Amino acid sequence: AAKDKGRNQFCEFTPAMEQEAQERRLLLRDLQQALDEGDFTLHYQPIVDMQSQRTIKAEALLRWQQSVRGQVSPAQFIPLAEESGLIGPLGDWVFQQATRQLAEWRAELDPDFQMSVNVSPVQLQSCKQQAQTWLQHLHDLQLPSSALVIELTESVLMESDKETNAKLQTLQVAGMQLALDDFGTGYSSLSYLKRLDIDYLKIDRSFVNQLTPGNEDNVLCEAIIVMAHQLGIRVVAEGVETQEQHDILRAAGCDYGQGYWYCRPVSPEDFGARLREERSRHANIHDPALME
Ligand code: C2E
Ligand code: MG
Ligand code: MG
Ligand code: MG
Repeated sequence: AAKDKGRNQFCEFTPAMEQEAQERRLLLRDLQQALDEGDFTLHYQPIVDMQSQRTIKAEALLRWQQSVRGQVSPAQFIPLAEESGLIGPLGDWVFQQATRQLAEWRAELDPDFQMSVNVSPVQLQSCKQQAQTWLQHLHDLQLPSSALVIELTESVLMESDKETNAKLQTLQVAGMQLALDDFGTGYSSLSYLKRLDIDYLKIDRSFVNQLTPGNEDNVLCEAIIVMAHQLGIRVVAEGVETQEQHDILRAAGCDYGQGYWYCRPVSPEDFGARLREERSRHANIHDPALME
């Protein structure tokens, strides 16, 4: 009986598992097809300076509108793309698309505008020449490396080998900036912050959405901000959904905010229109030429 039990534990392949495996195969097939047919798009979400409320940066976020499934969340398909190796070409596409868009906005609207791009650890691990390829691409677009921020999650830092560290260092030496995404959700070992010379820390929205006036939990966000600043790291709050959260974070010295309260992720057309409007408003107030 014990033997039977053991066998069942290890070998049984239930109909539910079978179905799940089948679903993954189909999703992977659709993902490959979407890549071939150009069905992915990028949406952009403003990252706002908390003091001036000026949009200084955009985060590029992948969107996949599938004919049968509808809108599929990146949280759902990125892991599959990572496991299957599809993240390589998909990540390349994101990088190219986002940087081309950035070059356009810098030329038309703001020469200092920056772009933040999410990078999967698998992307960094699987391509030997990744750093050089990206830098060359920026060079071709006549974009300085400092125009780009790479967003990494803690898993990159936890599993990072010598080679990955060397790539990240190459990017940083060239002027690119690094952000640690979703801070507070993983293991959050503070030693990573020093080891990799992180430029930005993004406080995860699970902390931000608990902020209410007089709440003792607010001290967590405040402590993260103080610590980051002492390490020379600037702080972005993710998932700011209310003015109250914005006010608390701003009072605590948080540098930048991102979230529905400022703006949802939007199409490049809508983002461009928004930035155009914001910059012309700004010009009207501050540009002496326009004030005559
Ligand atoms: P992330 O990098 O932490 O991106 C922020 C996520 O929070 C986005 O979800 C965004 O739409 C959402 N968000 C922004 N403001 C608010 C808010 O006020 N409230 C709430 N509830 N949510 C807000 P999204 O676009 O679904 O992306 C999910 C994750 O998928 C991203 O988290 C990122 O880890 C990954 N991802 C997205 N695009 C890419 C990509 O191009 N490459 C890679 N490797 N990963 C990506
Ligand atoms: Mg991100
Ligand atoms: Mg995040
Ligand atoms: Mg630094």
